[in-house]
Amino acid sequence: MTAGTRPRVVIVGGGFGGLWAAQALRKAPVQVTLLDRQNHHLFQPLLYQVATAALNPSDIAQPIRRVLRKQANAEVLLGEAVSVDLDGKRVRLRDGKSVAYDRLILAAGATHSYFGHPEWEASAPGLKTINDALEIRRRMLVAFEAAEREEDPALRAALLTFAVIGAGPTGVEMAGALVEISRQVLQRDFRHIDPAAARVLLIEAGPRILAAYTPESSASAQRQLERLGCELRLGKAVTAVGPNGISLGDETIGTRTVIWAAGVQASPLARSLGVPLDRAGRVHIQSDLSLPGHPEVQVIGDLASLEQDGKPIPGVSPAAMQMGRHAARNLERAMAGQPVLPFRYVDKGTLATIGRARAVAELGKIRIGGFLAWLVWLLVHIFFLIGFRNRFLVLFEWAWVYFRKERGARLITGDVGKLLERASGVTENQEVIAPGSPARSEAARPTLGDASERIWRAKAIQRWENEGGHCFEAHGPPD
Ligand SMILES: Cc1cc2nc3c(=O)[nH]c(=O)nc-3n(C[C@H](O)[C@H](O)[C@H](O)COP(=O)(O)OP(=O)(O)OC[C@H]3O[C@@H](n4cnc5c(N)ncnc54)[C@H](O)[C@@H]3O)c2cc1C
Repeated sequence: MTAGTRPRVVIVGGGFGGLWAAQALRKAPVQVTLLDRQNHHLFQPLLYQVATAALNPSDIAQPIRRVLRKQANAEVLLGEAVSVDLDGKRVRLRDGKSVAYDRLILAAGATHSYFGHPEWEASAPGLKTINDALEIRRRMLVAFEAAEREEDPALRAALLTFAVIGAGPTGVEMAGALVEISRQVLQRDFRHIDPAAARVLLIEAGPRILAAYTPESSASAQRQLERLGCELRLGKAVTAVGPNGISLGDETIGTRTVIWAAGVQASPLARSLGVPLDRAGRVHIQSDLSLPGHPEVQVIGDLASLEQDGKPIPGVSPAAMQMGRHAARNLERAMAGQPVLPFRYVDKGTLATIGRARAVAELGKIRIGGFLAWLVWLLVHIFFLIGFRNRFLVLFEWAWVYFRKERGARLITGDVGKLLERASGVTENQEVIAPGSPARSEAARPTLGDASERIWRAKAIQRWENEGGHCFEAHGPPD
């Protein structure tokens, strides 16, 4: 892939940082190439609403190509960057191709961090992409469906237990939405279970939820969540996560639906630069957003590590957008032979929702909670959603959720049979345990890994068969 006659600015990532940088360069005498591994810009702050069936994926995403279609100096490439050759000024792609640049803006964002336990991901998906949101929606809805069919009380209780790990804004928003679904949305739809009896646990290793907020806002959010019916476990670190449950030190909790909202780490692209990174894998940059020793490269958004007034600039969308605009401005200044300017983050406030119509908001010195904070949250999110169609649809969906207490996107997609088997405790190379058997009841017990689970389950079945019970479809010996 070759560049044209104008200097080529390659932007990796069409999220809040990259897209805002590309748009800010619309009048610059450069050729902009925006590279993303997804074809869409995603409004991540509303992902939890897709995960909890309030919104559809297309309500919160927009094809990047469409967003930039009127920008004559911009092109969009679909592809995944795997490394950057700083000396050769090329971005290498997964398919072996590479893109040459004169100037580079890296805005590849962040991904989940399982604190050294990548094996937990299979049982506790995080929320970062549309696929993640759809997977969580699937698991949540299937858990209710499997509970409706389940005769064993212990297993049914495990199916109706939902654990959200991590009480930052995403965890709080997920937990609030889950409680409301069970208490208000699904209440009348099932015949054999009472969805309102579902337990939603929000687990946090720190002493309070929303740690980045003031203690008052955090206490207000806690009260609002508890009033909704959410169970909080504060000061409890998760020590094990398995297909049937989680452990918090001595305490084990049987659950089939775990959602990970606990940690993030920078895109692995940062490692390819061979420069110093912080503990979360983010790139240490200079105050003008450039890479030390490489003024032609800027790193922005969640991928960047920069302090301001002794505190790290937070990984939030306003910071990414402001950095995107600043990177474009500095790039133009450098090309015009003017000195580049240091970046300064302007914190306009933070917001987190709790269920259908509650929130906490910190706007400068103003702190509000409850319905008023939710109205502010609603206006801000509608304003920043890209595309008139999306704004209109989302407002309509929210009105529907608010007035009808309904969730329009309650569709289970994917291999439902397999999902039901997983939820009911039947996995590959395992047996279907007859309803009513003690083994089935014991299957609700949390386990820490597939191999140990198979051995344990085989023993449980053996015990039950010794007592005269009958298990059908036992496939092969345990490991
Ligand atoms: C569930 C959730 C809820 C959030 N809620 C809020 C909120 O309420 N308020 C708030 O301010 N912030 C919120 N955030 C944080 C906010 O979304 C991020 O701070 C912001 O998106 C960072 O912007 P970015 O441009 O750095 O990265 P992103 O927006 O993540 O964009 C990165 C882009 O790079 C692309 N990409 C990644 N790797 C590659 C690669 N190797 N090659 C090519 N392309 C690549 C991705 O596809 C993506 O399009 C939330 C985040 C999440 C996950």
